[in-house]
Amino acid sequence: MLEQAQRLLKQVYGYDSFRKGQGEIIEGLIQGKDTLAILPTGGGKSVCYQLPAMLLPGTAIVVSPLISLMKDQVDALSRLGVSAAYLNSSLDAATYREVVRQSAQGAYKLLYVAPERLDGTMFESLSSQMQISLIAIDEAHCVSQWGHDFRPSYRQLAGWIGRLENRPPVAAFTATATPEVSRDIAAMLGLREPNVFITGFARTNLSLSVVTGIDKRKFLRDYVKQRHDQSGIIYTATRKEAEEVCSDLQRQGVSVSKYHGGLSDDERADAQEKFRFDDVRVMVATNAFGMGIDKPNVRYVVHWQMPGDVESYYQEAGRAGRDGEESECVLLFEPQDVQVQRFLIERGTADSERRAIQLNKLYTMMHYSRTDRCFLQFIVSYFGEADVPPCGKCGNCLDQSEKVDMTEDARKALSCVGRLKGRFGISLAAKVLKGSREKRILELGLDRLSTYALFRDWAEKEITDWLYWLVAEGYMRISDGEYPTVSLTTEALPVLEGSVQVMRRRSTSVKRKTTDQA
Ligand code: ADP
Ligand code: ZN
Repeated sequence: MLEQAQRLLKQVYGYDSFRKGQGEIIEGLIQGKDTLAILPTGGGKSVCYQLPAMLLPGTAIVVSPLISLMKDQVDALSRLGVSAAYLNSSLDAATYREVVRQSAQGAYKLLYVAPERLDGTMFESLSSQMQISLIAIDEAHCVSQWGHDFRPSYRQLAGWIGRLENRPPVAAFTATATPEVSRDIAAMLGLREPNVFITGFARTNLSLSVVTGIDKRKFLRDYVKQRHDQSGIIYTATRKEAEEVCSDLQRQGVSVSKYHGGLSDDERADAQEKFRFDDVRVMVATNAFGMGIDKPNVRYVVHWQMPGDVESYYQEAGRAGRDGEESECVLLFEPQDVQVQRFLIERGTADSERRAIQLNKLYTMMHYSRTDRCFLQFIVSYFGEADVPPCGKCGNCLDQSEKVDMTEDARKALSCVGRLKGRFGISLAAKVLKGSREKRILELGLDRLSTYALFRDWAEKEITDWLYWLVAEGYMRISDGEYPTVSLTTEALPVLEGSVQVMRRRSTSVKRKTTDQA
């Protein structure tokens, strides 16, 4: 069967070989295995269910919330000579009935359906007449409340699938699931011992870096001017900053446009066109820019600030290098960005459970900004994909700065935090290590701890940075209650016992490609 699939891949799509994961997913589905596939956008998911649909008897049902994409897919399949149709709210009543009638007669190899169409008794009766070869569920994270786009209509899917008489294999696809979300998807959809595939997250043509402790404005001007013949996107957190950064670059004579939610539809469409056709080189934008743009030759994406989670960061940064050519992603990081994001979360409308999830995501993003690990590895392992080697070209992989043995300082900091017993936050721990005479410290009697003032020669900010670094490396963690508190992880124990060394790069303040260190 797999050979047959390979032949079809060439015949129908004209591709020579499967991408990583595709062959295995297809093979599993043909053998009737439930599947959970976590593939990034553009990873080649369609082939994974379209090929089995062509090979298996009956009709594959593809559940997707993206109505606008259904028509494109169906048209594309028709051009390839594969019979397919869709059922969604864009059809008029007569067409809808006709598609239902044809479906019942087995006219299609693939039937795309919007999830909200699945609740009707109509569909139940339809499915009792149809032979269903497999059910593919796109954007499967919509079934999970832990995901970022929960949709109640997805919740009915499991019930509906469970009531099918000869339950076909079910394949759930998503691009954004963290391990918890994946588990939730499998449970919510009632997947039976699914094959799980997580693959393709490493965009190896991207060079990631983090730059901190610099004059951002000057850095950006120089960066953009050095790349005046290349397309790039600058993401800012707010409209106001988009305006400011855009004006600043304009004054520098840079060919630049802007895109954010405060502009009129016309202005936005105009900016997007100009960027798409290379009439302007640089787009300064908020995260409003990106849905649906697929410009292949974006050579760099700079984040003016840290976004609130790794998912958003990688999605936005990943708009660079769609054509597979080498491209750069630079994150400008200032510790106060964390406070801004925290504030947004705390002032947000989310309930407390949701807020805790968001704060956790924020801390992971912060750890990314401070890590010494390969940046690409960090992200890819966050998405649950294992065994990806260091990229060899990110800011950290290229950082040649010497590693310094910090074991002694790590031990001091960790034993202080250990003595605070998870009751206080980072800034208070830093004050204790500094030997602060602040009233609160004295009132709590913290000046009597044996670890009090161990870092009296350090600046308080250095101590804070050091503590955050230890968090980023996994020796301590920040947990959330009413206020965030810091405590040790099990990884701290071998350090405290002296069986593990802690090494830190000498210059961890500036992390970027050495070629940019002008
Ligand atoms: P998504 O996972 O976002 O749905 P698609 O299925 O649209 O991705 O595939 C993304 C792109 O990759 C498409 O242009 C598709 O034609 C191409 N593609 C998919 N599989 C292969 C393959 N095995 N070889 C070459 N190109 C492929
Ligand atoms: Zn790397």
